Amino acid sequence: MSSNKKIVIIGAGISGLTTAYLLFKEGYDVIVLEQKDKVGGSIETVNADGFLFDRGPNSGLETTPLIQRLVKDLNLEDQFVYANREGNKRYILRNGELLALPMSPPSFFKTKLFSGKAKLRLLAEPFIGKSKDGYYQSIAEFVTRRLGKEFLDYAINPFVAGVYAGRPEELSVKSAFPKLYALEEEYGGLIIGTIRSIRKRKKSKEVSKQSAKMFSFKDGMKVLPEAIVDKLGNRVSTGVEVISVRSTAEENYGVTFRDGNQNLTLLADIVLSTVPAYKAAELFGHFDPDQVGTGATLSKHLNEIYYPPVLVLYLVYEKNVVGQPLDGFGFLIPEKEERSFLGAIWSSVIFPNRTDESKAAFTLFIGGSRDAGFVDDVEQMVIDRARREFELIMKISAEPILISKRLWPKAIPQYNLGYVEHENFFDHFEKNNKGIILGGNYRGGISVGDCIKNSELVAQRIKNLT
Ligand SMILES: Cc1cc2nc3c(=O)[nH]c(=O)nc-3n(C[C@H](O)[C@H](O)[C@H](O)COP(=O)(O)OP(=O)(O)OC[C@H]3O[C@@H](n4cnc5c(N)ncnc54)[C@H](O)[C@@H]3O)c2cc1C
Repeated sequence: MSSNKKIVIIGAGISGLTTAYLLFKEGYDVIVLEQKDKVGGSIETVNADGFLFDRGPNSGLETTPLIQRLVKDLNLEDQFVYANREGNKRYILRNGELLALPMSPPSFFKTKLFSGKAKLRLLAEPFIGKSKDGYYQSIAEFVTRRLGKEFLDYAINPFVAGVYAGRPEELSVKSAFPKLYALEEEYGGLIIGTIRSIRKRKKSKEVSKQSAKMFSFKDGMKVLPEAIVDKLGNRVSTGVEVISVRSTAEENYGVTFRDGNQNLTLLADIVLSTVPAYKAAELFGHFDPDQVGTGATLSKHLNEIYYPPVLVLYLVYEKNVVGQPLDGFGFLIPEKEERSFLGAIWSSVIFPNRTDESKAAFTLFIGGSRDAGFVDDVEQMVIDRARREFELIMKISAEPILISKRLWPKAIPQYNLGYVEHENFFDHFEKNNKGIILGGNYRGGISVGDCIKNSELVAQRIKNLT
């Protein structure tokens, strides 16, 4: 059932667009305002000189059936692709050597990635009790206690760099990996919890991140946001920056945006923000709930969310100069290895259409919370350093035929220790300011799959308000 309430969504990234589309399909009156001239937000695909590369997310995980529903609705069946079988094999760098991450119990016992002592330590996991103060634990504390330090250093540390460009010492286990945290809370341990939760999940049709299939599109990740915009038509305006949101006397909101050199205002009953937290602070900071004297203002909470910089480096080589067998997703680098980049995706191995058959394309990630200071160095030095290290690891014997880069000065929100307080505050704020919803990737997960899943929840909350 639709209503005549006006809904304005700020930001045309995947969160804003998916919510807009779900509401539009049911006949709701929805407008999306996007400051840039293009849609997709962090999703950015470039198609130039016969190369196709994603400068933001390279893929998503199919953790919710909503992704397939969208693909069908948007007629994207021909575009949708799962990662090749090679995508299941991931490497970790240890002592300068790429070692495959074990994916089965026999390969776990054989691998050189972990010492015998570390393997034995892992077997003790079911006998380790629950923590008392689980609420405020970092991932590092949680994993060290349950699985041991070596597993933290050579499995979780690189994994966290791959997902958040973050550090396990800083991220909150409860907020950044809520499902992992819940395994201990609900079942008392990770191994027993994983076994028991598989049965539970089968009923809900949700898929865990470990078993979800990786997907993209033949023409890159931008296909999804662009297809949504095709359906929404003139309900999406680009090149319009929202500069203020105010309450009006009529108990709705005035959303003012810059359009060329004029400022225009739209009246809205419901305003959904999907802009990054530091931008939301500018737009909504003045709506603080009554917390006088506590110092717990909305803008303080929003501005405390840290977004480290990430430099994405795209390198293409002739395939025959790459000595390392190209049989995997790519590799991640533990912090202990002291390299100048976080890892690399072997982009042309996992998805079709990225280069022609004679070439190999790679996407490297530099910086994140581990090395945010790289932005103060000369950029060319940063690039050359990472490139040289990469070429050594991959046994590459010639220069790249293409180098392209994209700096994200504020890349991914870090669900750091204390995040629970931000989350509680945002819930509280929304209760006191009916009609304002703070959405986007700093609430409920940063992955494309989580953003899509949360968009469905947000669309439902909006429907409940109409
Ligand atoms: C380099 C990088 C690599 C990543 N890799 C992966 C990956 O491999 N897999 C994965 O699942 N996830 C990955 N992610 C994370 C994922 O891409 C993002 O979390 C997700 O796309 C965020 O979507 P969003 O719509 O919530 O926010 P955004 O994409 O940030 O969209 C917000 C939008 O709001 C707009 N906006 C801002 N201010 C205003 C304003 N005042 N008025 C109007 N519009 C405004 C912005 O221009 C933007 O378009 C990656 C992210 C980055 C940066």
